[in-house]
Amino acid sequence: MHSNFQTVLAAIIAVIFFASSGTVLAADNPKPNAKTDTNAKTKADSKADTKTDSKSKSKWQPEIKIGILNGVQNVTLQMSAPCVMTDSLTKKPLQNIVAGEEFTIDMASLDSTAIEIRGDKIPLDEVHVMINGQEYFGGVSILKKSYGLTVINIAPVEEYLRGVLPKEMIPSWHIEALKSQAVAARTFVLKNRGRHKADGYDLCSTTHCQVYNGVNTFFGTDTAVKETRGQVLYYGGRTVDAPFHADSGGMTESASNVWGGSVSHLVAVAEEDTHTQAWTVNFSVYDFSSRMGAAFGTLQGFELSPLTIGKSDSDRTTSGRVKTFKIIGSKKTVQMKGDEARRKFSLPSTLFDVKIIGSQVVFTGYGKGHGVGMSQYGAQVYAQKGWLYNKILEHYYHGAKLKKLY
Ligand SMILES: [Zn+2]
Repeated sequence: MHSNFQTVLAAIIAVIFFASSGTVLAADNPKPNAKTDTNAKTKADSKADTKTDSKSKSKWQPEIKIGILNGVQNVTLQMSAPCVMTDSLTKKPLQNIVAGEEFTIDMASLDSTAIEIRGDKIPLDEVHVMINGQEYFGGVSILKKSYGLTVINIAPVEEYLRGVLPKEMIPSWHIEALKSQAVAARTFVLKNRGRHKADGYDLCSTTHCQVYNGVNTFFGTDTAVKETRGQVLYYGGRTVDAPFHADSGGMTESASNVWGGSVSHLVAVAEEDTHTQAWTVNFSVYDFSSRMGAAFGTLQGFELSPLTIGKSDSDRTTSGRVKTFKIIGSKKTVQMKGDEARRKFSLPSTLFDVKIIGSQVVFTGYGKGHGVGMSQYGAQVYAQKGWLYNKILEHYYHGAKLKKLY
């Protein structure tokens, strides 16, 4: 009897908790899966989301802190709705902020070491903030450090993704390709929260994490985020790494060949239908030789097996990407890794051949990017062929499953 009573009590408490946590102001470290269903994937979910999203804007979702400015002496802000400024440590309200009124916070006059500005009884996803004239989703937090202010945008993850997605994929692309990208980007965000913990936020707003310039909305990308709300890629009970690149060139690459280690959902997969175009990068023999340094002498030739996409060799990976090759100079021979050559000669990928033709060094290759995980170009081709986003994701992230976290 006693234990039954406890169970019932626990259930009642849980119901109260969910009801009260419905309106954002989520904890810094929310447990998204507390509210979730199972591995349900795809259509039924997206339909349900579309239905509920339009009505319940306050539906729970995690928050993300994105570092916007570092070491500034002052910052000009403007809130779209009535807000409250609180001290982040004591949680004491410091000041009411009027909607639409511009104000400046500077090092000298800020007494707290950390403040937050959020909507006054208004959920975070219904507030925007202008930071030095640039519009962002959600609220703002400011840290006072010895060298200046750190300005952080506190955004609901789904709104943040609306800002990120158009930076990652062309908003007019096929909706199923955009949805694949939305899931990959969301997976990245939730997997990498806290990456910049030492700086006081989760992610930065540059290519180091994901490029984010705030509000940047388009119908296609907004729809893709909405229809995949809360969905991430799961494998072995965890959110996976879900890297992506522009174009595989015909076959993706296993993570182990690029970054080492072994990741079972990031194996090389052949594209069934690729319209990828070959690229070429040329140098004069003279220019190439001088890039190799004085000790190298003049370029005499290369030692590299011929490229066949999807065919490995001692110097090529399973997909045909260059592992290493020999560059023969008049003074010495250099053994170079494909990746190093890609950086040194600004090649789009390591899926290449190289030859001397006349007085020219000609690199010919396919694809763009590291080749691991989803090919964005490939996703678009599959979407146009009629594949749904879950099928596209299963193709590129072998064995990973879609999971709806909230
Ligand atoms: Zn970063």
